[in-house]
Amino acid sequence: MTRSDVVVIGAGLAGLTAARTLRAAGRTVTVLEARDRVGGRNLGSHLAGGVPVEMGGQWIGPGQTEVLALVAELGLETFPTYDDGAAVTFYNGTLTTYSDETFGLSLEAAIEAGRLQGELETIAETVSLSAPWLSPRAAELDRRTLDEWLRANTGNAEVLAFWGAVVTALFSAEPAEMSLLHFLFYIKSGGMLDSLVATTGGAQELRVVGGTHQISERLADALGDAVRLGSPVRKISHGPDGVEVHFDGGQVTARRAVVAIPPTLAGRLTYEPALPASRDGLTQQIPMGSVIKVQVAYPTPFWREAGLNGFAFDLDGELSVTLDNSPPDASRGVIVGFFEGAHARSAGRLSPEERRASVVATLVKLFGPDAQNPIDYAEQNWMEEEYTRGCYGGRLGAGVWTQYGAALAEPVGRLHWAGAETSDIWNGYMDGAVRSGHRAAAEVLAALEA
Ligand SMILES: Cc1cc2nc3c(=O)[nH]c(=O)nc-3n(C[C@H](O)[C@H](O)[C@H](O)COP(=O)(O)OP(=O)(O)OC[C@H]3O[C@@H](n4cnc5c(N)ncnc54)[C@H](O)[C@@H]3O)c2cc1C
Repeated sequence: MTRSDVVVIGAGLAGLTAARTLRAAGRTVTVLEARDRVGGRNLGSHLAGGVPVEMGGQWIGPGQTEVLALVAELGLETFPTYDDGAAVTFYNGTLTTYSDETFGLSLEAAIEAGRLQGELETIAETVSLSAPWLSPRAAELDRRTLDEWLRANTGNAEVLAFWGAVVTALFSAEPAEMSLLHFLFYIKSGGMLDSLVATTGGAQELRVVGGTHQISERLADALGDAVRLGSPVRKISHGPDGVEVHFDGGQVTARRAVVAIPPTLAGRLTYEPALPASRDGLTQQIPMGSVIKVQVAYPTPFWREAGLNGFAFDLDGELSVTLDNSPPDASRGVIVGFFEGAHARSAGRLSPEERRASVVATLVKLFGPDAQNPIDYAEQNWMEEEYTRGCYGGRLGAGVWTQYGAALAEPVGRLHWAGAETSDIWNGYMDGAVRSGHRAAAEVLAALEA
């Protein structure tokens, strides 16, 4: 039986950040990680020629100050995502190349999409990030889905197709799968839509040289044998005297626990005594999104020669968004693409060969015949990962914020909750995960010192 001041469950960015902060404050800590690697939703891989790519979270934007600070502290470097040239949008059988703010939509649709953005952001300004359920119009905003709001506010099919692609690109979930309040909270949490969608100046601006998984690896290296891999937690006993965490291979006793796994996975653990209904009810209602991420390698980033930056929305197809993901020296060309939401669920039923063929066909449609013969292809289906069960993160459907939201980060006795889903700033992002680790560690330290 191992004894520590604090036991942390999950060695993703949230858990490792919490552990690092606790260790720095002089506390002993044990981190239990189910997988045989750290990093969770950050996963590194290599394509032909040794090109490093991320199969999970990869981009960092200018407002993401906590993760940027961590990257710098750990001696990692960033480089800008390639963003020179025109983007393309495929809609209704037509490919449109554009370099302006229209996203390749018809003028009428671009104006209408912009009007909806303005209206949504005006309402989002009224949403409380620290307590969305206490926002002035919380009940009204939470009883509707985003889909219902969009359809009530436009009848333009092109605009609805565009919004469908934007929403699934941000959430890996459909507009019908989240409440309007959740959508508004989330866009405000990340600095509104332009910040979330943009490459330069937005959330996709920077990449980490060698891959974001190194952030977790370096955090774990510094924690040494405090991090125990291959240790899935099954049960947490908790009471006034402390916590006892049971994992495959042993037990850890501690004064407090930080549970740094997505809420839906936290809900699958056994608690003794059982958690309050408010907390258990919450974890029953934060499903993960659906995404399959693909990386396609070519000898060169040939699309750049055609003046394209690799960014595409396919409003007709299943691989709905792509970006240039080539290495900084452009020694290979790499396109990253995403099957998201309903598209991920249908693509997930295909064989890997069928999926690859579908991806290549889409890239030929978007970038021309040079896309026909990739030199490498990699994919990651996050829905099938036992210790993630979908990505990018959890979302709240109609009624959940107002009925259960208060239980999202509120400690239950000696149990504290961390993870990207619990952050009020950059919720769902790596930055939010880091912030949640800091917040949970601060809660624990305050409690231990009381
Ligand atoms: C395809 C994809 C693309 C993304 N793109 C971006 C992006 O570009 N930019 C960005 O900022 N974010 C992005 N994200 C989101 C970002 O990766 C996550 O928000 C962040 O990594 C979450 O960190 P976390 O520590 O909260 O959770 P996780 O990374 O999920 O960590 C939880 C850890 O707990 C472990 N665990 C689970 N169950 C147990 C158990 N029972 N016992 C012990 N351990 C357990 C898991 O194995 C995991 O290591 C993306 C995610 C995905 C999947």
